[in-house]
Amino acid sequence: MMTKDMAIEVRDVQKRYGHIQALKGLTLDIAKGQIFGLIGANGAGKSTFIKLLVGISKADQGDLRIFGLDPNKHLAELRQQIGYMPQSPALYEDLSAADNLRFFGRAHRLSQLNSHVEEALDFVELSQRADDPVGNLSGGMRQRVSLACALVHQPRLLLLDEPTAGVDLKLRSAFWRHFKQLAEQGTTILVSTHQMDEAIHCNHLAIISQGEIIANDRPDNLLLRGRATVRIWRKGKPQAFQFEHYPEELAALLHAQGLDKEVQRVEIEPSSLEEIVLNMLEPSQDIQEIKDARLN
Ligand code: ATP
Repeated sequence: MMTKDMAIEVRDVQKRYGHIQALKGLTLDIAKGQIFGLIGANGAGKSTFIKLLVGISKADQGDLRIFGLDPNKHLAELRQQIGYMPQSPALYEDLSAADNLRFFGRAHRLSQLNSHVEEALDFVELSQRADDPVGNLSGGMRQRVSLACALVHQPRLLLLDEPTAGVDLKLRSAFWRHFKQLAEQGTTILVSTHQMDEAIHCNHLAIISQGEIIANDRPDNLLLRGRATVRIWRKGKPQAFQFEHYPEELAALLHAQGLDKEVQRVEIEPSSLEEIVLNMLEPSQDIQEIKDARLN
């Protein structure tokens, strides 16, 4: 433990709520400056894990370090370095957006509070609504205020628990633009989601299922685990071939089939990241069923 390039180090962490074993021995490393995606269905253990990192709850067993520090022993010190966006925004409805940020800023004993507040509101493009009570803002705007609250003290580590849940497409893409901008400036970001179209934006993914990590890899490596369907069209009809490793096996297929004049069209349809992850979560399903399914 305590590698200097690592923001988060987790070894065999377990957490139980009564008879529910929410985390069954989690082990993972998150390098500094990464956007690390934690992917899992409802109840997989994502929020439980994030709460351990924030220091809101305590692991039953195992070892956990953030920037080399144990969150249970160095809570105050780490709080200054961590920004946390909970799953449902924890905001004061009757206070203005700016006052909510000031509240969080004061809790972090920020100097130059007002300029930090302005900067964070500007970052989430809410400067125009700074003085509106949060209760009058739309759901998406509240999510943005919540993100700004997590950012106001310019933390080195951002823990975002389903930050884009219930957020429209345009705002989601704005959020991801913000996350990438922050990561470029050196912030480490852990983001939990069950939206697979978002997973592709992450540098690294951990797939969590029933309290266990079942895959931990870069999205491009995960994509290599997919299957592909190749369709060769002759006389207006397709013939389909399934591949486990199509980049390696495609040439052999084309050698065997030949590309004679009758071939009208060749289609290659690789599995999407969503299909690959769903297949990991429920290996018994076949591709078509997976296509029709949703993570939750
Ligand atoms: P979601 O995507 O639905 O938010 P999640 O991956 O964040 O799910 P967790 O909230 O970590 O999942 O829950 C993991 C398991 O632990 C679930 O079975 C949940 O019911 C249980 N759990 C979580 N918090 C508590 C608690 N305070 N008391 C009892 N059980 C809990």
